[in-house]
Amino acid sequence: MTNLLDFDPAGLADFFAQRGEKPFRARQVSRWVHQRFVADVAQMSDLARTTREALARDAEIVAPKVIRDTTAADGTRKWLVDAGSANAVEAVYIPEDDRGTLCISSQAGCALDCAFCSTGKQGFNRNLTTGEIIGQLWHANRTLLADGMSDAGPPQGAGPRAALGGSVAAKPQAWGDHRTAPWVEAGRAPITNVVMMGMGEPLANFDPVVRALKLMLDDNAYGLSRRRVTLSTSGIVPQIDRLRDACPVALAVSLHAPTDELRDRLVPINRVHPLTDLMAACVRYIERAPRDFVTFEYVMLDGVNDADSHAHALLRLVRDVPCKVNLIPFNPFPGSEFRVSPRARIAAFQRIVSDGGIVATIRKTRGDDIDAACGQLAGQVRDRTKRRLASRIPVVAAR
Ligand code: SAH
Ligand code: SF4
Repeated sequence: MTNLLDFDPAGLADFFAQRGEKPFRARQVSRWVHQRFVADVAQMSDLARTTREALARDAEIVAPKVIRDTTAADGTRKWLVDAGSANAVEAVYIPEDDRGTLCISSQAGCALDCAFCSTGKQGFNRNLTTGEIIGQLWHANRTLLADGMSDAGPPQGAGPRAALGGSVAAKPQAWGDHRTAPWVEAGRAPITNVVMMGMGEPLANFDPVVRALKLMLDDNAYGLSRRRVTLSTSGIVPQIDRLRDACPVALAVSLHAPTDELRDRLVPINRVHPLTDLMAACVRYIERAPRDFVTFEYVMLDGVNDADSHAHALLRLVRDVPCKVNLIPFNPFPGSEFRVSPRARIAAFQRIVSDGGIVATIRKTRGDDIDAACGQLAGQVRDRTKRRLASRIPVVAAR
C-alpha cells in the first residue's frame, strides 16, 4: 500500500502520472487529503467510482497514531505520536488570538547532543518519514476542526468549511464557539503557522523534511506562506545552503553562545561548523529567504552564557547578520546540569542586546502544566511513553 501522506506535490503528480491519470487528479486528491483531511479514498466524491476503487486498492492515508492527547490550562495542546519500537515524538499546538501555531518534530531523538536538550540526551532513534512529519499537521488540523464543529450551533457565515471547499473533516455538525476557536471566524484551517522546533534536527533529516515543507506551502495542500513556516536548526551549515536552494522558509538558528569556545561545549555541532561559517551561511540564506532576517535562539543558562559580557559578545558576533534574537528561558528536565537564568538577568541581557540595536524578545513559556515547552519534549516522552508502551508490548527498544 502507498501512503499518500508520504508524497510531496511533485511525488503525488508522478504517482498519478504512472497510473495514467491526468495531472489535475493529483491536485484534486491533494485537496481531499490535505485540505479536507479525509482518511478514506471512498469519501473523495468527485472522483469517478472506478478511479476511487482502483485508488483504494493501492493507496491509503495513514497519519502516525496518536497515543496521548493533553490540553494545558492555557489551551496549549500536545499530541504524543507513536514512532514505532516504543519511540514517540510530540507535536504541540499553541493557540493565540491571531494565529494557531503547530510545533512539529522531525526525528525520534537527536544525534547532536546539545548539552541542555532533553531530546539530545535521549540519543538518536530514527528519522521520521514525510508522512509522519506532515501527518502531525494533518492530524492537528483535522482534530481541531472536528472540535470546532462539535459544539452544536448554527453555521456562522464563512467558516473553514468555505475556505476548505466543503470540509468533511470528522463530524459534519455546525461550527461551534467562535470565542474559543478564533480561526473559525477567520475562515481558515486552525493551524496558520508551523515551526519545526519539536524533537530532532530537521536539517539532519533533509529530504523528508523538505517534502513536508513543500506540502505546507502548496496551494493544493496547506497553502501556508513561507513566512509562516519556520525551520529551526542547530547550524548544519551545508544543509542551510541546501535548504536555501530547495525550499527557503523562515529560518531560526539555535545559537546559544557567542563564542566558539562556549558553543563547542553547548552545541557540539559547532566543532564541525564554527561560528564564522554559521554567520556566513545565515547571510547567504537571507538572500533567498522569505524574511529579511534570521532569528537567533539563545537559551538562558544561569551562570553559563547569560553574563553582560556574553550579550556584548553576541552583539559583536551578529553585527553583519540581519537578525532578531529570541531569548529562551531554559526548561529544566530531570538530570539536567543547568539552571534557568533569573528573570532579572534575562531582562538585563535583553536590554543590552536591544540597546545594541537588535530586536530581542523573551519567549513566553506555554503549556507548563503539560511539559509542552521547548526542550522538555523528549525527556517525558521517553520516560512516560516507554513506561506506557512497555506495559503493552513485550520488548522495549534499547536506547
Ligand atoms: N534541533 C533544532 C530544533 C529543535 S529544538 C534546533 O536545535 O534548533 C528547538 C529549540 O529549543 C532550539 O533552539 C533548542 O536549542 C531549544 N532547546 C532545547 N532544549 C531546551 C531546553 N531544555 N530549554 C530551552 N530551550 C531548549
Ligand atoms: Fe538536537 Fe536541537 Fe536538541 Fe540540539 S537542541 S540536541 S540539535 S533537538
